[in-house]
Amino acid sequence: MGQSVIKASPDQINEMKEFYKANLTSKVPPGGVFCAKTAGCTITAYRSGKVLFQGATHAAEAERWGEISPAKKTPDKRKASGIPLPAHISGMSVIGSDEVGKGDYFGPLVVVAVFADQKHLPLLKELGVKDSKHLKDEQIISIAKDLLTFIPYSLLKLDNPKYNEMQKKGMTQGKITALMHNQAISHLLRKMAPQKPEAILIDQFAEAPVYFRHLQGQQNIVKERVFFSTKAESIHLAVAAASILARYGFLRAFDKLSSKAGFKLPKGAGPLVDQAAARLIHEHGEKAIEDYTKVHFANTGKAMKIASRNKR
Ligand code: MN
Repeated sequence: MGQSVIKASPDQINEMKEFYKANLTSKVPPGGVFCAKTAGCTITAYRSGKVLFQGATHAAEAERWGEISPAKKTPDKRKASGIPLPAHISGMSVIGSDEVGKGDYFGPLVVVAVFADQKHLPLLKELGVKDSKHLKDEQIISIAKDLLTFIPYSLLKLDNPKYNEMQKKGMTQGKITALMHNQAISHLLRKMAPQKPEAILIDQFAEAPVYFRHLQGQQNIVKERVFFSTKAESIHLAVAAASILARYGFLRAFDKLSSKAGFKLPKGAGPLVDQAAARLIHEHGEKAIEDYTKVHFANTGKAMKIASRNKR
């Protein structure tokens, strides 16, 4: 888990202590002024003026108070490519975009772009919006249902037959993902016009130059104010909300696919998946692979082997 460090004056530290007064903990380390714990972050202020933010939302939390010095940001594994992120992006009105399903053999690829208006940020926090990887499926479903009632978004679901068709035309998964992000963002921009986001933040799956190379030759390429960062869910709640809606869309499609198969399909791409795919071949024929899976994964070969072995 990452951390951010800022320098603050004694006055600022008092202000911060006041701000976090509901979250103060009794354990203050040697040299410390206060220590506070929020849902996603532990904040420790030292007499030296150093304030340490640790935990999932460290960057967002630190950004309330000042400029994070880039050198001190390095313990964090996040990296941004392309244009550096605006200093106070966490508090801006932002379109965030994220995808789900890239690593799952069964099921579609889902990309969602969400617009989180500055004025909605406290509500999003209140609803429990955070990185979907830290949420259980039931939490994702319940938060997603709340989000869908008020948030502007665009959800794109690429079902397996179409995915396989694009892949066979020679498109890499990276290219397919890039096309979908760009499309989801353009849809959303059109939907919310004339309102415009202050920034567009894509959870980085490819470096900025690679992303734009994938988009070459496309009709509408959204370039203006587009930023990339890994772990972008922890930078802006728009990306966290997008990850939740994408996961929700994926789960729903996945359940439908399981019903169609007649048994519960496993997620991911491990040995259980090979077994399930072999069962699918056994019960629905080899052609079913096209309709349920991302055929180019190595699981296809393994499943075929298992299926032919079981036949004998
Ligand atoms: Mn992502």
